[in-house]
Amino acid sequence: MSISENLIKIKKSLPSHVTLVAVSKTKPASDILEAYDAGQRIFGENKIQEMVEKYNNLPQDIEWHMIGHLQRNKVKYMAHFVSLVHGVDSLKTLKEINKQAKKHDRVINCLLQAKIAEEDTKFGLSFTEIESILTSENLNELSNINIVGLMGMATFTSDTTQVQEEFSKINTFFEKIKSQNKGITTLSIGMSGDYKIAIENGSTMVRVGSAIFGSR
Ligand SMILES: *Cc1c(COP(=O)(O)O)cnc(C)c1O
Repeated sequence: MSISENLIKIKKSLPSHVTLVAVSKTKPASDILEAYDAGQRIFGENKIQEMVEKYNNLPQDIEWHMIGHLQRNKVKYMAHFVSLVHGVDSLKTLKEINKQAKKHDRVINCLLQAKIAEEDTKFGLSFTEIESILTSENLNELSNINIVGLMGMATFTSDTTQVQEEFSKINTFFEKIKSQNKGITTLSIGMSGDYKIAIENGSTMVRVGSAIFGSR
């Protein structure tokens, strides 16, 4: 099936409260335009430089999401346009995003990345660390960022019970912080292989790459 056929099929299958981020990392501009022409406006990239290049060369009404691990020294290159940063995993990074957003007189929406997978290679914060950021005095001074929710990645495994348990765990925590903090709206969980399980476990935003664009 073509990119547009994949996209339309997936979009149709999503409940209306779930936002689709089309993950276009490593894919050429022509692939992004095919999805764009089929109606997709939100794209996700995991490298800042690649995202900047695509931003410069593609339609200006695309919303760009940074879904990868952040190098603090590169935040400045995307601060004028990025629409949501998914992978924030320290107060230090939040402060840098705030500083760069301020230069452009913007408020940048951010998700805190929770570590829910078993492997220790996955980046992210523990639930305790997330709570301490959300209640930190420092947060009030960061007027150019908004924490709007959480992002998580399940263990890469064919054991769907394990994936389900990991998503259920982050969803329970998401519901808790949502009830305690206004402005928390977004739970970014689910990729090509597990977005259906994620949606059953409270996902409001799925990040789908290969199921739309083919394997990388
Ligand atoms: C690559 C990537 C995705 C999409 O992965 P697919 O399996 O191709 O859907 C989602 N989230 C993050 C953080 C990624 O790096």
